[in-house]
Amino acid sequence: MEKNYDVIIIGAGVIGTAIAFELSKKGYRTLNIDRNPSSGYGSTSASCAIIRVHYSTFDGCALAYEGYHYWKKWEEYLEYKDENGLAKFIECGCMIYQTHENDYLKNIIARANELQIPFEKWEPELIQRKLPIVNTKQFGPVKLSTDKEFGKNSGENLRGAIFFPTAGYINDPQLSAHNLQRASEKKGGHYLFNSSVEKIMINKEKTSGVVLSNGEKIYAPIVVNVAGPHSMKINQLAGVEEEMNIKTKALKVEVAHVKPPKGFDYEKNAFVISDSDIGCYSRPEIGNHVLIGSEDPKCDERIFVDPDDWDQNFTEQWKTQLLRQAQRFPDMPISTNIKGVVALYDVSDDWIPIYDKSSLPGFYMAIGSSGNQYKNAPIAGIMMADLIEKCENGHDHDKDPIKLNLSNIKREINVGFYSRNRIINKESSMSVLG
Ligand SMILES: Cc1cc2nc3c(=O)[nH]c(=O)nc-3n(C[C@H](O)[C@H](O)[C@H](O)COP(=O)(O)OP(=O)(O)OC[C@H]3O[C@@H](n4cnc5c(N)ncnc54)[C@H](O)[C@@H]3O)c2cc1C
Repeated sequence: MEKNYDVIIIGAGVIGTAIAFELSKKGYRTLNIDRNPSSGYGSTSASCAIIRVHYSTFDGCALAYEGYHYWKKWEEYLEYKDENGLAKFIECGCMIYQTHENDYLKNIIARANELQIPFEKWEPELIQRKLPIVNTKQFGPVKLSTDKEFGKNSGENLRGAIFFPTAGYINDPQLSAHNLQRASEKKGGHYLFNSSVEKIMINKEKTSGVVLSNGEKIYAPIVVNVAGPHSMKINQLAGVEEEMNIKTKALKVEVAHVKPPKGFDYEKNAFVISDSDIGCYSRPEIGNHVLIGSEDPKCDERIFVDPDDWDQNFTEQWKTQLLRQAQRFPDMPISTNIKGVVALYDVSDDWIPIYDKSSLPGFYMAIGSSGNQYKNAPIAGIMMADLIEKCENGHDHDKDPIKLNLSNIKREINVGFYSRNRIINKESSMSVLG
């Protein structure tokens, strides 16, 4: 029997499931197809799941601050309690060092004032009181660990930091995608796992469905590409990549999980930290660990890969991140026991996501999450459902970009900001910071 849906969503990560939830609420019959055995097993499961409210652009900040409110009222938002339990938002706050590299956060402070996001200014003495394990001296610019100047500080303290209390992390990102899957199923959404999309069907120059690797055809007039690091491959299948001004590709990244300095309860007393002086971001991890990611400093090589054929082993980068963090936490043990995550970011040309339609009627995309869109999944779901509904009802989003009302923070953003055809946004940090 022919299988028909209103919408096929390729991918069941945290953004794919959020889109399913929002479309199901609007009455669309959705089917998420994922090659993995369950929801959230793609880059979502590798995510550090940091929820922060600071971005370099106004729209980025506004979307993240709006997104924060959905994590804060997660259970209420889902309208359903998953039998596996609910993902938890640990609201420990986020501290960003003021450095030469980030222009002492002038931009971020201006955005926070504009959007009335609460923040505090912390002097080095206060940072040290909050985190007695820290060395607040200036080590930048970031260097490779093989550089003979590595580990030397200037003797000067950093200027200080800005602390955002409305930030933290989600304890189990994979579970959060499962929560959204269950919530969307409750509204009528369907899921098909262990199934790979191999072809996008087109009939009379419009999207008409997909073909799976086993040859099965599933029909729908709307298909949404939410394939994470495989997004470019799905766009190529649909033949829409060529006409896009902004493209996406898969970048290999590593995250280290290590022990904090002895005697310090990092899980309980620390918070999310962005430190462009050493090129690392970090957060507490369950089991009293420090989780260390890279802020993509200029001196590091970027390794773009084929998402179907790449080396999933850790490299020297793992140790580099550990050594960089040890500049800040001098008593941190230098482990040789490699623990953490090797994964892929789906990086766009300007590290800002693409939430858009395409040149093929009925084909949409929520891609290019560039290592920083986990936090925006719920609001991305709302934005995509609104975009799809309006475009399918005849609105020309390319000519007259849709405005999205951010109901929690009472602002409006121009969804054209996330267009596939924008010119590269020079305000972007061109890094995972977005
Ligand atoms: C190491 C790491 C750390 C991160 N840290 C943060 C953070 O702290 N904060 C933050 O906001 N963001 C972070 N991110 C980014 C965030 O995790 C992603 O933006 C988010 O998880 C993307 O969700 P998604 O649903 O778009 O994609 P994914 O979770 O990647 O899901 C895509 C799905 O598509 C499926 N798929 C692909 N191709 C096909 C096909 N042909 N057929 C069927 N299925 C297919 C895959 O199996 C996969 O399950 C991080 C990412 C990584 C990798």
